[in-house]
Amino acid sequence: MVSYKELGLVNSKEIFKKAIAGKYAIPAFNFNNMEQMQSIIQACVETGSPVILQVSSGARKYANQTLLRYMAQGAVEYARELGKNIPIVLHLDHGDSFELCKSCIDMGFSSVMIDGSHLSYEDNVALTRKVVEYAHQHDVTVEGELGVLAGVEDEVSAEHHTYTEPAQVEDFVKRTGVDSLAISIGTSHGANKFKPEQCTRDAQGILVPPPLRFDILEEIEKRIPGFPIVLHGASSVPQEYVATINKYGGAMKDAIGIPEEQLRKAATSAVCKINIDSDGRLAMTAAVREVFASKPAEFDPRKYLGPARDELKKLYMHKVNNVLGSAGKA
Ligand SMILES: [Zn+2]
Repeated sequence: MVSYKELGLVNSKEIFKKAIAGKYAIPAFNFNNMEQMQSIIQACVETGSPVILQVSSGARKYANQTLLRYMAQGAVEYARELGKNIPIVLHLDHGDSFELCKSCIDMGFSSVMIDGSHLSYEDNVALTRKVVEYAHQHDVTVEGELGVLAGVEDEVSAEHHTYTEPAQVEDFVKRTGVDSLAISIGTSHGANKFKPEQCTRDAQGILVPPPLRFDILEEIEKRIPGFPIVLHGASSVPQEYVATINKYGGAMKDAIGIPEEQLRKAATSAVCKINIDSDGRLAMTAAVREVFASKPAEFDPRKYLGPARDELKKLYMHKVNNVLGSAGKA
């Protein structure tokens, strides 16, 4: 058993409080390899942003959870080496059982999500409560979820949205004791968030997805004022990446995300954690495909993973500076 405090990590309590008061959101970036970790830390150190490093269950299977934990420990040292002691949270994304959350807490995670959103309301309350009771003994923060996001990401998938029911949030937060709440207001997992027929077209013929349900967010804020809210599935799917991928042999169809202006607006509310994963996948894939197409003789992985890392860092700096507003808040 190791406490995250020994590793130099922090839980999300203080940074969420500051984010709500300061009207910005903390980036939650997923990682499962070294290049992603380097990009995240470099981008957040250079912009002076707090950061949440997220590990999904897919990442644990891919990279091994022990390795990932040591990478996060290394990230703390790396940030210091780069010259800034930014707050770093190590967070379990979409924990699906008490046992998994406990094992992450015991190995040094500072924050966990227990996703009981697919369960009945009462079962979600009971499971979340159980995780909170254990986590709080170790000063680890817990994110719960109410409502279901559509889309597919790793092992989390759902056919349709179920928007969060504002009437349930007060009871859920009170009975479970969670520290933050993921809600469903129209964001969605993956790179194909909307079907073209769900969208309208602007004057230039560009597809415009249906807006987020800010009315539900406002209703939730009214019922639990100042309580930290989390948005999952908040990638914007930059069309220049999709175009680069397709130009160099890719086959991405109907990839549509959440417009960044809407996320910027959400970040000024009680939304204090915004999860971005798919955009990073697109940035890396676009960069790798471009190298493969333009330098076909190249076979040193550093020659394509390096450009992928640089592109990812650029994207994350843009997110921190222009979408989340967390630059300079570390
Ligand atoms: Zn998610």
